[in-house]
Amino acid sequence: MASLLPSALPQPLPEPASAQQLEQLAADLRAAGLMPLRSSGELEQLSADAFVYSPVLQPLLQGLRAQLGVRAVNAEQVLAVAAACGRYGVSLTLRGAGTGNYGQATPLAGGLVLELSAMNRLQQLDPASGVFTAEAGILLVDLEEQLQVRGRELRLVPSTVRSASLAGYLAGGSSGIGSLRWGFLRDPGHLLGLEIVTLESTPRLLQLGAAEAQAINHAYGCNGIITSATMASAAAVPWQQWVLEFASWEQALAAAQQLPNTALLLNALCALEGPVAQWMPWPKGCPPATASGHRLLILAAPDARLALDALLPRLGGQLVWEAPQGQSRGIPLRELCWNHTTLHARSHDPGFTYLQLLLPQPEQAALEALRQRWGHDVLWHLEAVRAQGQQRLACLPLVRWRGREALEELIRQACDLGCLLFNPHAITVEDGGLGGVDAEQVAAKASYDPAGLLNPGKLRGWLERSALVGA
Ligand SMILES: Cc1cc2nc3c(=O)[nH]c(=O)nc-3n(C[C@H](O)[C@H](O)[C@H](O)COP(=O)(O)OP(=O)(O)OC[C@H]3O[C@@H](n4cnc5c(N)ncnc54)[C@H](O)[C@@H]3O)c2cc1C
Repeated sequence: MASLLPSALPQPLPEPASAQQLEQLAADLRAAGLMPLRSSGELEQLSADAFVYSPVLQPLLQGLRAQLGVRAVNAEQVLAVAAACGRYGVSLTLRGAGTGNYGQATPLAGGLVLELSAMNRLQQLDPASGVFTAEAGILLVDLEEQLQVRGRELRLVPSTVRSASLAGYLAGGSSGIGSLRWGFLRDPGHLLGLEIVTLESTPRLLQLGAAEAQAINHAYGCNGIITSATMASAAAVPWQQWVLEFASWEQALAAAQQLPNTALLLNALCALEGPVAQWMPWPKGCPPATASGHRLLILAAPDARLALDALLPRLGGQLVWEAPQGQSRGIPLRELCWNHTTLHARSHDPGFTYLQLLLPQPEQAALEALRQRWGHDVLWHLEAVRAQGQQRLACLPLVRWRGREALEELIRQACDLGCLLFNPHAITVEDGGLGGVDAEQVAAKASYDPAGLLNPGKLRGWLERSALVGA
C-alpha cells in the first residue's frame, strides 16, 4: 500500500542554478533596477514557512534555501524578473508572508525567490457590487481595513489575517474565518479575476477572467505569478465575539452542529475540547478554561445575541465572555481558531502535530471511534464550514506525535470512517488540500510556465506529465 506521507522530496527536481547562472541573473536584475538579495540571513528568511508543525515535513524541508532573493515593486519589475529567470533557466518561487503550513513557499531546488510585499495597494472597489481589485502583496489586514471604511469586508480570511498576503492566501490557503458562511476559497464566486505574469522566453502580463483564474487558485504559484486579484467582498458586519462553555463535550458538539443551522448570522464557530481550550491564551477578561470546560468560540452578528439567550438553556451551555471584534484586549478569538489553535497548543507541548479533516455526518460516530482507538493522543478541535452548500464540521485535531506509522494508521482509520483528508503532511498541491490532479492547473502550467521553472516539485500532475512526455 502506497504511503500517505512523503519520505523524500518529489522528483524530478531541476539542478540548483550554477554560479555562472546566478551571476548572469543577478546582473540582469541589477540592470532592471532590482537589488538581488544573497546574504544567508535574507535567504533563510525568504525560504522557510511554518512547515515545522509537521514532523514529517520538517526533516525533508529543513535547510532548503533559495540561492538568490529579490523584491519587486510593480508588474514591470515582475516581468523583468520572469524574463531573467526564463533566459537563464533558473527556477522561481513566489513568496507572500511565508505563513504557509506545508512548505508551499519553500524552494525545493534553490533558484530565486520573489517577494511582492511592496505591491500592496487596493486598486479599485466598486461600491455597487463590492467587487475589488488589489495588488498581490497587500496584507489581508490592510485590505480588510480599507474595505471596512467603505462598508465592506473580506468574505474569508485565514487566522493569519494579520500577517498573510492576498496572493499567498489565494495560492496557498483554502479556508478560515468566514468559511461557515462562504465555504472555501476555491468555491466559484470568490475569485473573479487575476492579473498574472507568465514565465516564458518573453513573459506576458495577462488579465484572466473568473473561469481562467480558477486554475491559478490554490496552485502554490506553480503556474503563474499573481500580480493582482479581483474578488467579491461582503457587506461589513460588526461581528461580536462570544465564548460559550459546556460541561460535557457531547453538549458542545451538539451545539456546534445545531447553531450553524439556525437563522443566527454567524461568521465562525470553533469547538475546542477542554484540554485544548485550557492551553489557549484567552482575551483579557475571558476566564481561563479548565480541562473539563469545553468551549465554542463564535463570531456572530449583533442581532444574534437575543436569540442566543433563548437558545442557551436548551443547548446547555453558558456565555462566559463577549466583546465586539476589534475592541477586546489580548488575542482576539479569530487568532485562537483554525491553525492558530495548533500554534498555541504546540507552544505548550511541541510533541503535538495535527491533521485536517472534513467529518462525515452525523459526526458523533466517527469522533467516538477515533476517541476509542486514540484516547488522549488525539485532542479535538472542530471548525464549522459550508461545504458544497451544506453546513459541515471540519476538524483540525491535535495529534500526539508517535511516529509515521501511527500517524498513517490514524489517517487511514479516519478515511475509512468517511472523513475527507486535507493532508498537512504533504508537499504537493494534490497530496495536500486538492486531493487529486486538476488537469486545468497542469494545462495552465504548460501554457504559462512551459519550462517548469515555477516552484518546481510542488505540482504532482506536472511531474507525472513530464515523466510521460519524457518516456
Ligand atoms: C498559525 C497559522 C494559522 C493559519 N490559519 C489558516 C487559515 O485559517 N486558513 C488557511 O487557509 N490557511 C491558514 N494558514 C496557512 C497560511 O497562513 C495561509 O494560507 C496564508 O494565507 C498564506 O499567505 P502568505 O502570504 O503567508 O503566503 P506564503 O506562505 O508566502 O505563500 C503561500 C503559497 O502562495 C504562493 N504565492 C505567494 N505569493 C504568490 C504570488 N504573487 N503569485 C503566485 N503564488 C504566490 C507561494 O509560492 C506559496 O506556494 C495558517 C498558517 C499558520 C502558520
